[in-house]
Amino acid sequence: MGHRYLQDHMPARTSPTEVGHVVRALYLEAGVADVAAETGDRELLASSVRRWADMIATKTYLTGGNGSRHSDEGFGDRFELPPDRAYNETCAAIASFHWSWRLLLATGEAKYADHMERILYNGFGAAIAGDGERFFYVNPLQRREDHFEKDEPGRRRSWFSCACCPPNIMRLIASLANYFATTSGDTLYLHQLTGAEITGGGFTIEVSTRYPWEGQVQVMVTAAPQDERGLAVRVPGWATGSRYRLNDEPEQAADPGYLLLRRMWRPGDVIVVDIALTPRLTLPDRRVDAVRGCVAVERGPLVYCFEQADQPDGVAVDDIAILSAVGQPAITLTERALTLPGIGQTVQVTAVALHLRGTALGTESDAGRDAEPVTAAAIPYFQWDNRDGRAMRVWMPLRESAASGKLRSVAG
Ligand SMILES: [Zn+2]
Repeated sequence: MGHRYLQDHMPARTSPTEVGHVVRALYLEAGVADVAAETGDRELLASSVRRWADMIATKTYLTGGNGSRHSDEGFGDRFELPPDRAYNETCAAIASFHWSWRLLLATGEAKYADHMERILYNGFGAAIAGDGERFFYVNPLQRREDHFEKDEPGRRRSWFSCACCPPNIMRLIASLANYFATTSGDTLYLHQLTGAEITGGGFTIEVSTRYPWEGQVQVMVTAAPQDERGLAVRVPGWATGSRYRLNDEPEQAADPGYLLLRRMWRPGDVIVVDIALTPRLTLPDRRVDAVRGCVAVERGPLVYCFEQADQPDGVAVDDIAILSAVGQPAITLTERALTLPGIGQTVQVTAVALHLRGTALGTESDAGRDAEPVTAAAIPYFQWDNRDGRAMRVWMPLRESAASGKLRSVAG
């Protein structure tokens, strides 16, 4: 398979970017981070930090997945991120989660916990069927109506002959509680926003929330140390406009990063953080040719996808373009909570769109001819393939210009 497949082409210390088999590469990085932490080797840690940043910017899908080549379950070139041919092995998402955790411990930087959340709710979350009985090994961002990989239609399966992913999923879920919080110095850090009772750093706290469906996170102190300490809650990087309130004090802005409050805490103290979950449109990096001119929908930590089952009758998901009317300040996204058969609880996001009926090869005016306005509907990506197994796509073509301040750039 070659030296790059095995990450044996050059020393890890000097390697600039991730290459070869993704799961091997990211397990190796977990080891690199561990050795750096045990030996205090700052140069080795810095090399791992550099490759993580490079991977996030150039070789990571919007869902947090990695691997764009099926042939060697491997990384591709920088910006080689086709949504339909994405490999994104479930084990790779888990390996990336483990590596990001180690860099979080080594640096204390919120971006690592942000990425763990992205993996958990999207690239990892999608691997498991709604009923918990079937799994994805490969997690693409697009499935066509007639998709086949050899004789397989690319739906979740109950088992695999190479059975790495299902037990790896069980391992991560069984150990998930260990990744939610840490202590550092005199501060207790809450990294993941989920219901929990956490004891550490002299505190016991109770976290109550319906996140990611709703944005309110309540942290109640039930046991407090006898001196001044810090309590920190992660506000995700995308959550601009978030607010918090401590007890009866006035509400204040909570900027992305760690909201760190330091005081003498008493049992009964309550921090309420309102994470802004407003649906948003995300643009890919212009160098990702496979999705150039497309947009994706995200809401809070959830990446959304357009599945055939949610579109109007007679409108194929591949014939839909999200509409941005010239002169309007932003594309309108509407959300509503509902329950769907096969899926259960969800928050659907709808967008004003066009049903394109142009010819396969034609001019721009041909493609726009007979286009009709439709409402396109999206559900969280982790909930896809729980119904009829038809077409799905995360990245949607955009018609007209999207000169909106709400758009931001990501790798793909
Ligand atoms: Zn696997």
